[in-house]
Amino acid sequence: MKVDHIIVGQGLAGSLLAWHLLQRGRKVLVVDRDEAVTSSKVAAGLVTPVSGQQYSLPEGIEETLTFAKQVYWDIEEELGQQYFHHLRIARLFGGKRDIEKWAKRLSDPGQKSRYESFAEKLEIDQSLINAPFGGIEVKNGGWLNVAAFVEGIRQYLLERLAYAVGTVKSRDVQCLPNGGVQWRNITAQNIIFCEGWKGVNNHFFGRIPMNNARGDILRCRAKLPEGESRIINRNGWILPLGNGEFRGGSSYDHHYLDEYPTKKGRAEVEEKIRVILKEDFEVIDHQSAIRPIIKRSQVFMGRHPEVNDIVYFNGLGSKGVLNAPARTLALVEHLTEGKPVPRVNDIQVQFEW
Ligand SMILES: Cc1cc2nc3c(=O)[nH]c(=O)nc-3n(C[C@H](O)[C@H](O)[C@H](O)COP(=O)(O)OP(=O)(O)OC[C@H]3O[C@@H](n4cnc5c(N)ncnc54)[C@H](O)[C@@H]3O)c2cc1C
Repeated sequence: MKVDHIIVGQGLAGSLLAWHLLQRGRKVLVVDRDEAVTSSKVAAGLVTPVSGQQYSLPEGIEETLTFAKQVYWDIEEELGQQYFHHLRIARLFGGKRDIEKWAKRLSDPGQKSRYESFAEKLEIDQSLINAPFGGIEVKNGGWLNVAAFVEGIRQYLLERLAYAVGTVKSRDVQCLPNGGVQWRNITAQNIIFCEGWKGVNNHFFGRIPMNNARGDILRCRAKLPEGESRIINRNGWILPLGNGEFRGGSSYDHHYLDEYPTKKGRAEVEEKIRVILKEDFEVIDHQSAIRPIIKRSQVFMGRHPEVNDIVYFNGLGSKGVLNAPARTLALVEHLTEGKPVPRVNDIQVQFEW
């Protein structure tokens, strides 16, 4: 069998890559282990433009966000499903220091209008939500149902005979003398590894330092304010799902033994939820998985410096939903048009080989 590209892994990274390459008329084969637990299948999928303890609004986020939403909507239109939900975020201040940090952001004349275009004054039902210091309501956020999204893409690939269940061991991939690669009886121009945290086992890319983090998410039931649909965020977050159910998260653990839920992770998330909700809640499910993280939580991509047809795409981290669409396009333009990989994301430039 001959294809243009073999893609290893069908999480968010491999799904978007396969989608764009197929849109450009390329023949692809996606090979995935079909595991029950992966980062994409467990992820909260939140897009929170004003984020972190410093209330930062990264440069260029306007374009990245607009592009990401457009990609998800295009895919939704073709697949006839909704995966991206446009949501506002009730970002609660944790104390006076948070109020000061936000005031400082607004006092910067060069940034004030940017911040104001993303946030407004928060109104929230304080009988059920712990918001003694108030907060801001962030616009333009959202939630991608990542598990449903990757399943939708899997069906799309299956219909095009572009998906196979299997494990690609990097040592089983051969580079052909006249260019191209072979894995089992399949040849291709190149192979792109989108393995998520399991990329640590790939011998071609052992020099890329991964700093993956396990995370727990709980599904819970509680009394929430009538009609509340916003993501509520204060250190942790809750995502209302309707009928009093919500997802709450998440923990962040770099010293994990495996991807499975732990008591410690559950306790950490329960504590974060307690800070947000005034009333008690019931836990009805507990999931966990490992986020693929590389330095500065940047997405990294590009060709192996010595074996040109072995390609890397990984490090989506905790902002994968926001960043993946634009980063995928950069890689696709490299693979199909020969455009250079952006230096900041290029593994050849950013790591010692
Ligand atoms: C608890 C938690 C909360 C999160 N919350 C958010 C959030 O709110 N917002 C956000 O943007 N992101 C969030 N993320 C991160 C998000 O999940 C990731 O950015 C993204 O899903 C990673 O996608 P990926 O394709 O790189 O990796 P993965 O989803 O791990 O996919 C890799 C795929 O490759 C397969 N695979 C690996 N090796 C091989 C091989 N050798 N052969 C065949 N198949 C292979 C795996 O089985 C898997 O299917 C969260 C993650 C976790 C764990």
